[in-house]
Amino acid sequence: MKIQRRDFIRNFFLTAVGGTIAGSQMACGHVNINTRTGYNKQLMLTFHPYELEMVHTFTISGYSRTKTTVILTEITYDGITGYGEAALPPYMEGQSLDTALAFLKKVDLTQFNNPYEIDDILIYVDGIDSGNSCPKAGVDIALHDLFGKLIDQPLYRIWGYTKSKTPDTTFTIGIDTEEVVREKTEEASPFKRIKVKLGVDEATDKMLINTVRSVTDKPITIDANQGWRDKYYALEMIHWLKERNVLFIEQPMPKHNLDDMAWVTAKSPLPTIADESCQRLSDVPALRDVFSGINIKLIKCTGLREANRMISMAESLGMKLMIGCTSETSCAVSAAAQLAPKMNYADLDGNLLIANDCFTGMKIIDGKITLNDEAGIGVRKL
Ligand code: MG
Repeated sequence: MKIQRRDFIRNFFLTAVGGTIAGSQMACGHVNINTRTGYNKQLMLTFHPYELEMVHTFTISGYSRTKTTVILTEITYDGITGYGEAALPPYMEGQSLDTALAFLKKVDLTQFNNPYEIDDILIYVDGIDSGNSCPKAGVDIALHDLFGKLIDQPLYRIWGYTKSKTPDTTFTIGIDTEEVVREKTEEASPFKRIKVKLGVDEATDKMLINTVRSVTDKPITIDANQGWRDKYYALEMIHWLKERNVLFIEQPMPKHNLDDMAWVTAKSPLPTIADESCQRLSDVPALRDVFSGINIKLIKCTGLREANRMISMAESLGMKLMIGCTSETSCAVSAAAQLAPKMNYADLDGNLLIANDCFTGMKIIDGKITLNDEAGIGVRKL
């Protein structure tokens, strides 16, 4: 009986590695993949911009926006397509639609003919130029999706992560008027946790929390987006928030002010989580004892390959783990969700904040990140 190519590869792979290999070690160079004819056996990258429309004007400490443009990526091999996405939020300093498109034009994947050699391919991509973490993540996600599809397994299973261990996600409420915050809190009723953006001034920050609390007593997580400049004020706010059923504080102080941040964390009654202070793997060791944990985002760390390494590093340092996202489609959010079983906290609502999602993938069911059994990052294009 003829063995189907995908079954052969899947059986080979799962037998060879036991299905528990970490993302950084996924290269599998001995599989005979040249079993079909008529399809291109080179990796082909294509990409195009896609403008997202926001459901609400989104305001955080520093800026507002109603539309944002991402780049959708595809990597095709042997007639199979992996999907990826490079979101480009304004806070990713030095990166824009133009710089990301210019970077992607330099990426030549046709030199590779084995899509299982993810490690070598992504080391090449990372080495093309410094920075550019957003478009690098766009390539990384598409390559991982392709990889999962080729062996017909979801990534969380390939990495050996337990599907049922995904946390509840938060639903984010931006900085807004009392009336809008009340409306958004009511809109967040399907979620079990609410994330509130703070960092304006004491009166506004307290108004935002008091408004949410006038609607619900659900646990709140805080993101101050570097908005608190003084360590004594930051600690005082954290104590005030502790009395209002807050779970943790994300990036209370400016990203480079690690000395004051370490002082706050040492005295804080709530965990502190690094976001802007933690971009890539190399940042993590220095954040031990400065924050209680790190917020991993694929657009910061160049994608799933490095995210898995950050998970291992943070675990080894005894730090908590959070997975975050930005305003992006279900493509990038579902990719991040593959890592969710390893996370203490998750903020994966970016796809719910846009009106024109062009993918379907992971779902939030009863507030919880719920992964499907589809291969790769688990998405379908709409
Ligand atoms: Mg944040």
